[in-house]
Amino acid sequence: MASAKQHALIGTGVGAVSWLLYCKLVDRPVRVGEVLLGAGVGMIGGLLPDLLEPAIHPNHRRFFHSYAVTALLAHANHCVSQQTQMPAERRAAIHLISLGFLSHLAADAHTPKGLPWV
Ligand SMILES: [Zn+2]
Repeated sequence: MASAKQHALIGTGVGAVSWLLYCKLVDRPVRVGEVLLGAGVGMIGGLLPDLLEPAIHPNHRRFFHSYAVTALLAHANHCVSQQTQMPAERRAAIHLISLGFLSHLAADAHTPKGLPWV
């Protein structure tokens, strides 16, 4: 099981790399402050599942650690990506925090305990 520190590091990396990829895809100049902000948002997302369901016992993984929430989050992000009237930065923040969240679930899924379906 990854520790909070490991989840934070993974989320940070996911947030930073995702922002860099976003800048590359939309041909946006890379600004260090924005990369750090993306890393921070990814880190928060990476910590969220255990904030919602604290890892205080081996069976703490419930809905917010499930494949169901993964599917709901993917669907929600798809919907957000189509909200073109929403500022691009707000959509990007939602995607980054979601990617951080999903990085946590991906790390937890690779443990013997895995993730519950619901
Ligand atoms: Zn967890």
